[in-house]
Amino acid sequence: MFGGVELGGTKCVCLLGTGPDDIRAQSSVATGTDPQAALGAIIDELERAAATHGRFAALGIASFGPVDLDRASPTYGWITSTPKPGWRRTAVAPRLAQAFGVPVGFDTDVNGAALAEQRWGAGRDLEDLAYVTVGTGVGVGLIANGRLVHGLQHPELGHIRIARLAGDLWPGACSFHGDCVEGLVSGPAIAARAGTPAHLIPADSPVWEPAAHALSQLLHTLVLASAPRRILLGGGVLQSRPELYQPIRRQLVKSLNGYIDHAALASGLGEYVVPPGLGALAGALGALALAEDSLKLDGR
Ligand code: ADP
Ligand code: ZN
Repeated sequence: MFGGVELGGTKCVCLLGTGPDDIRAQSSVATGTDPQAALGAIIDELERAAATHGRFAALGIASFGPVDLDRASPTYGWITSTPKPGWRRTAVAPRLAQAFGVPVGFDTDVNGAALAEQRWGAGRDLEDLAYVTVGTGVGVGLIANGRLVHGLQHPELGHIRIARLAGDLWPGACSFHGDCVEGLVSGPAIAARAGTPAHLIPADSPVWEPAAHALSQLLHTLVLASAPRRILLGGGVLQSRPELYQPIRRQLVKSLNGYIDHAALASGLGEYVVPPGLGALAGALGALALAEDSLKLDGR
């Protein structure tokens, strides 16, 4: 059995179990602005669950970022430069590893979600997969050649700059880049453009066309950069606005303009750009998958 924690922008989800069909305990604690308090509450929740259901062999953590994933770094397992109040330079994995004394797997929330989708969801058994979430921010988890992509840090494809829709001059809402993808299509960005809370924007509002276009540009780059075998596209915005899938697929086809000659990209992309399969629990299930994989890594 494994423990899993997803650290999210507003709440942290704790799980005990082995996968989506075997969740023994689930609870959540507020993320808040005091990381030591939140981590203490997470430890309490996992202790309580383990006391009822049994010890866990490893713990996985899927965290909002940016995070340090370099095992050779003195700040491995830390949240590093987040704008989230209070959480800058927080040693997350070290604290939880010390509390439980089990192997710990650590990655970003979106890499975790990609891993869970690959193991149990809409990307089952695909060696190359992209998971894109469009919600409060825009995040991309990437698996290439069967492995989560890590490097200098981790990919941050939500912040790439893109070709703008012709005639669209709105400056965007990202505090770092203005009109990067997140600055154009996160829920708060769309709301800022519309001047209305996202859930109140009418379906025929002019804000949706540039939003779909910006996402098609992100997917264009994804296809060319890491050649995923499928792109899972979800998050709060897509979940509540499924009518966006078709214009996104259409604009992606138009943007690629026949350059990639592959059957997967031939017929409307209905099986290539698809919703994720695990819903809101993908990140937390990803933490369970990271826990399981941490045992394999330890065994090497
Ligand atoms: P998070 O990104 O915090 O993990 P979600 O993926 O659930 O959360 O996305 C939440 C975001 O989705 C909200 O901040 C809001 O901007 C957006 N959203 C929620 N409902 C709607 C809606 N009906 N239409 C468009 N956007 C929505
Ligand atoms: Zn940005």
